[in-house]
Order: sequence, then structure tokens, then C-alpha cells
Amino acid sequence: MTLPHPVTEEEIAQLRARYRQERERRVRPDGTRQYQGAEAEFGYYAADPYAGAIPERDPLDDTVDVVVVGAGFGGLLAGARLRQQGVERVRIVETGGGFGGTWYWNRYPGVHCDIESHVYLPLLDETGYVPEWKYAPGEEIRRHAVRIAEQFGLGDDALFSTTVTSLTWDDAAEEWLITTDRDDAFRARYVITATGTLSEPKLPALPGIEKFAGHTFHTSRWDYGYTGGTPDGGMTGLAGKRVGVVGTGATGVQAIPKLAEDAGHVYVFQRTPSSVDVRGNRRTTPEEVGADREGWARERRENFLRIVSGEPAGTDLVADGWTASAALLEKLLPSFRREGDPETFEAAYEAADAAKMNELRDRVAGAVTDPATAGKLQPWYRYACKRPAFSDAYYPAFNRENVTLVDTADTHGIERLTEDGVVVGDTTYPLDCLIFATGFSVGVSGVLSGKLPVHGRGGRSLLQVWGERGPRTLHGFTSNGFPNLVQLGSMQNASSVNFTHILDEQATHAAALIAAAEQADAVLEPSREAEDAWLAAIREGAPDHEWFHAECTPGYYNREGGGRPNPAAYPHGAVAFHALLRQWRTDSVAEILTPRTTPTTR
Ligand code: NAP
Repeated sequence: MTLPHPVTEEEIAQLRARYRQERERRVRPDGTRQYQGAEAEFGYYAADPYAGAIPERDPLDDTVDVVVVGAGFGGLLAGARLRQQGVERVRIVETGGGFGGTWYWNRYPGVHCDIESHVYLPLLDETGYVPEWKYAPGEEIRRHAVRIAEQFGLGDDALFSTTVTSLTWDDAAEEWLITTDRDDAFRARYVITATGTLSEPKLPALPGIEKFAGHTFHTSRWDYGYTGGTPDGGMTGLAGKRVGVVGTGATGVQAIPKLAEDAGHVYVFQRTPSSVDVRGNRRTTPEEVGADREGWARERRENFLRIVSGEPAGTDLVADGWTASAALLEKLLPSFRREGDPETFEAAYEAADAAKMNELRDRVAGAVTDPATAGKLQPWYRYACKRPAFSDAYYPAFNRENVTLVDTADTHGIERLTEDGVVVGDTTYPLDCLIFATGFSVGVSGVLSGKLPVHGRGGRSLLQVWGERGPRTLHGFTSNGFPNLVQLGSMQNASSVNFTHILDEQATHAAALIAAAEQADAVLEPSREAEDAWLAAIREGAPDHEWFHAECTPGYYNREGGGRPNPAAYPHGAVAFHALLRQWRTDSVAEILTPRTTPTTR
């Protein structure tokens, strides 16, 4: 890999000082405690605005083969891959009122995929669907989720508007008992959890948040009943209204230009600006992505994964902002393949980082006419300290008369709410509507949140076992003492920016494990030794990028300034991890199978 040297050493020293200063300006002593969940008295922020009237149904007490918790792409992929393995009774259980997960909940105006649709949308080879846009709108993605469910027959047994409240292993029957908030108590031989990593909306824990008398909601629960319109715009309900938006992450960047088109006035409360690169969205044709060839989508997503992982890949098929800046994702994806002497690499890396961030800061200056506003929108941190955003409409929105940027960095964000609006410093901004684009709690959905109690062999609680010695898994998916439970997610395995690809490999693995156990009439459970060996493998050779995250501006990537959120990852990256899983399935799956003491009668 060759990285250019267009920035002088003196400039780099100045940038380092500026980045440090910006970080210090933003770090808060309360770290992750500055947020609160959308629950208890704030539970209405998480209520489902899309489900309509929820039909009554009788509680279920039957038995199925596999229960999948979550109907997002993780759950759908698990269902589809199980079907391909011949598993018949698959029941997906989901809190939301339909399929789609992230794409069920996030319907804010302007919502789009920020990874190329042709590599992001799963099961394109299998469904024959070819996305219409390079970056698909949310509704196209949600419809694709429904398409997958229909093609793989996952709808009939699915339970929506239903939250799993406990998973309990029945030692005698060797199956799971699943209870829900709709009084269900059904059973399954296997459970797959696919509850997402960024799915629980969070709010700033602000004084006075309950006092605000205007209308308010979180972007992941968009209230079109109030705003009117659709994700494409036309929000006539906002005409003449003063609308505040808190947050300028990937969501804010997509929603703000649409709000600017329809609202009377938009106040954007920014704490840290995103880096916003060129988007260049456009319609695509099946020909240009080679969709007439068998396996085209698999080939394309493998190519994307290799490039953003720093692996040799040949032609760059996707050729977008992610692949162009792939080398700069190294600190985010620590498995990145490095070449040459480490010191030379670091120097070249920092210079390339500085050049890229200079380019992005110049982009703001070129697009925003008021120099003071442009200055506030410039990001002062290293690339990928925050998730990079892409938009061609975001910066021009700030040239409109009806958009005001309110920089809140000096006060560490908006300070409090009153009945009338938002307070920043000495100023109150009166508002009719306040929208929180403040993101999601990280990695605390499902099992780790404590909201889904899991009791394994002998009634032992998973959280308690992990609380004593830390999370323990084989490959991140299965755990000793918790038989026939497969957890999908980003813990103790390998991740990447195209998370649906990661989920597909995980779902394929989960389905193969279950098929192997079914064939052998066995129970699926790794030994403690297998867990120990895996924990040793992920600790060994992990590059130390803690310093990078510790020097970044705060955000959810670094526990609000505290350091890297998930240090326990497979150190050689997703490409190598997927190869390892495939090999392990061929050579070693039998090691985690033990004959059932209650043979299945089928
Ligand atoms: P986010 O990245 O966590 O952004 C939250 C925003 O709220 C940040 O700008 C944060 O500022 C701001 N904020 C929080 N508390 C504040 C306060 N008291 N005062 C002022 N500002 C405050 O959330 P998100 O934008 O919803 O994105 C979350 C993730 O979802 C993304 O990183 C991405 O993975 C995913 N996503 C993907 C797409 C897609 O197109 N595929 C679209 C949207 C989201 P600070 O930065 O200063 O903390």
C-alpha cells in the first residue's frame, strides 16, 4: 500500500495540537452517563409509530425448531440460511410491527443506505433483486426485507409487536423455554439472538427534558402524523414551524436537508461536526453491476470487504468514498493488512489522514457561503474517529435563510430544556418541535442489556456468568453452559463497515451449526477449554489502537472519549475470520456436539 505525503511535518504538528484542543473542549466527565434510554417516563420516545392497531392474539405454548429473536437483517438471514439447511419451524419474534429491524424503525426523511446498495442488501443472488440506486432509500431496503421474508416463508410463524422477556434452558427436555410480553411460553430446540448492536434509541439526560411543551420525538420513531409527508419529503405539517434538531451524526446529516425544505425554520444544534464526503447517488442499471452473472452480488461484496480490509482485491468494483479512503479505515478495523516498516507506515498514514481531512474541511469552505458557519461545520479530528458521513445536500442546506447552525461545543451540548425550547449558553431557542437525532446505545441490546434474561444449564444466568469472568464464547457465537444458543453480533469476532455482509457469514455459520447438531441428534455447546482457546486467539496479536481512540473526539466509537469500545475482536480481520469459520466447520464442528440424552423423535 502506498500512502502519499502531501502535508508537511510542521502542518502535522499543528493539526495534532488542534485535534487535542478540540477533544479537550468536548470531553465530558460524565462520559456515557450523559445519556438516558428511551424508557420508563421517556418510554414514549421508543413507542412504535408505524405498527397501527396491534391485533389481539392468544398466547402461544407450542414447540418449534428454532426461535430467532429479531426480524432485522440478522434475523432474516438466519431464517433464510436455516431454510436452506432444511429447517422447517422457524419462528422470528420481533418488538416492531414488521420485518426490517433498523430499516423498520428508521424512516426519517432522507433515510438512505450509506454503503452501496449492491453490497449492502443481503441475498440479492438468492432473490434475484437488483437495487435501483447506488445508495438505496430506506423504503426500498425495508421492502427488500419483506421480500426475503416472503421468499423464505418466514412470515407465517413470525410474531410481531412481541418482545421476548426470557430464555430458560430446560435441562430435562433439552430445549429452550421462551416467554414474551404477550404471555407466550413456547419452546424451541435452538435459539438464535439477532437483536442488533445499535437499536435502542438514546436521549441526552438533560434537565428539563420533561418540561418541553412542544412536540418531540426521536429520529428512529419519526412522527409523520405530526410532520406530514414521507421519507421523500412533503412535510406540510412543518410549514411555518420552528424545528430544532439535536445531533449531526449520520442520521442528522441525512434528515436536516429534508427538514430545511419543509420547515418554517430549522435550528441545528451541533456539538461535533461529522466529516461529510461526496455522495454522488444515482440510478444504476443491472448491466453496470454485472447482475446477469451468477453470484455477482457475492463477488461484489467480497471485493468490497477485501478493499476496506486492506486485502489484495484486484479491481475496485464499488469505487466509492469508502473504498477510496479504505487505507484510512485501518484504525477502525485494526486487522488492516500493513506493509513495510511500522514507523514509516505510521508517518505515511498520518500524512494521508491529514490530507484527507484537509480535503474534507476544504469541501465545507467551498460549499457554505457564510465563513463563520463554514468554520463551525469543519471537523477537527482524524479520519474515522467518527463514522464518516456522505451527502451532497447537507452543506448547501446551511446556505438557506431558514437554517441556523447553533454550535454547542463550548457548553458540551445543549444544556437544558424549558417549556418553550432549548437553552444554549445565555440563549433560549423557542421551538414548536424538537427532534432528537442523538443515536443509539451501543452494544447493550438484547442479552447484554439485561432486558433479555438468559438462564442456561442449572438455571445459571448468562449475565452473572459473564459478570464474574467477562464474556466467554467460541467465535463470539456459542457459550459453555448455554447449549443450543447462538448469538449473532459484533462481540469476540470480526466486524466491518458493511455489517450485513458480516451478519450473512454469521447466519450461515449459525444455520450450519444447527444443521450439524440436527443431523447428529446432538446438543450444541462448546467446552470451557474451547472458549479459553478462542479468548487466547483474540487477545494474541491484537494491534494496540487504544491510543488512537483515546486521542479521538468523544462519541460512541470510543465510549465517549474513554477508549476503544470493543477491544476483544479477532485480530486478523473479517476476511481471515470468515475463512477460519469455513475451515472450522469442515474440520472441527463435531467438537462442540454431544449426543442428546433425550433423542429427538422425528
Ligand atoms: P450518532 O452518530 O450517535 O450521533 C448522535 C449525535 O447527537 C452526535 O452528533 C452527537 O454529538 C449529538 N448529541 C448527543 N447529545 C447531544 C447534546 N446533549 N447536545 C448536542 N448534540 C448532542 O447517531 P446517528 O446519527 O443516529 O447514527 C448512529 C449510527 O447509525 C451511525 O454511526 C451509523 O452506524 C448508523 N446510521 C447509518 C445510516 C446509513 O445510512 N446506513 C444512517 C444513519 C445512521 P457528538 O458527536 O458531539 O457526540
